Amino acid sequence: MTHPILPPVTFAGAGPGGAQHLTLGVYHALQRAEVVIHDRLVGAEVLALIPADVRLIDVGKQGFGPSTSQALINETLVAQAQTGARVVRLKGGDCGIFGRLDEEIDALEAAGLTYAILPGLTAASVAAANVGQSLTRRGRNASLRIVTGHDMAGFADQDWRGMAQVGEVTAIYMGKKSARFVQGRLMMHGAGVQTPVTLVENVSRPNQRVVAATLATLAEAAQTLNGPAVILYGLAPRHALPALSQLKEAQA
Ligand code: SAH
Repeated sequence: MTHPILPPVTFAGAGPGGAQHLTLGVYHALQRAEVVIHDRLVGAEVLALIPADVRLIDVGKQGFGPSTSQALINETLVAQAQTGARVVRLKGGDCGIFGRLDEEIDALEAAGLTYAILPGLTAASVAAANVGQSLTRRGRNASLRIVTGHDMAGFADQDWRGMAQVGEVTAIYMGKKSARFVQGRLMMHGAGVQTPVTLVENVSRPNQRVVAATLATLAEAAQTLNGPAVILYGLAPRHALPALSQLKEAQA
């Protein structure tokens, strides 16, 4: 049974960090919210745009580390929605990419609650833009893979043979710990050791860092990562100017 009198929960993607990568739709939802339940990956600039009287609930989770269990997050979400408050469930990047969105939707539906989804910019889109690249290109790659380095069972198995083809581009999320494994699998499936790989850490944040590597140096490069990072396999950085500083200069 649904409760049409209760406002729907809004699932929203915050983008990878900076305010310039937040959509207007999500911005407006945050202005209207009474409760915002957010993850660790939501950027400080976005959190700063949430009005002071909104109740913020941080359910931040760390890959492989201490975490709020998904069951507890689901419970919190349902309990908040049942109070009748306007709830925004805010996730880093696009809420529909590696965001465990369906588990939360299932919990709401089981409680007879309704929801809407406002997607955000996913980390790979902004990472590619910030190294001056496009994710697809005529004559180079007609498809794009978005994969995770690990899943619930450990290192994730992927279509290594497909990924290893010349010109293919794969955005690897949560790939720090699995970098050596990914490197080995790709080499085993015939990928060239000189294939460019770009690691972009803290995308869209003031401390963004770009590491240009190749398949041969991928594992070493990944060891230098501290923050969240997207690994763009098959792309070398080009010389884009950082969009954020351009924006700030234009405003100055
Ligand atoms: N929903 C998110 C992905 C969540 S999974 C999105 O669409 O972007 C978590 C992984 O996303 C991280 O391990 C990292 O690979 C990537 N990620 C998320 N935000 C990032 C950021 N600001 N910089 C670099 N990588 C990021």
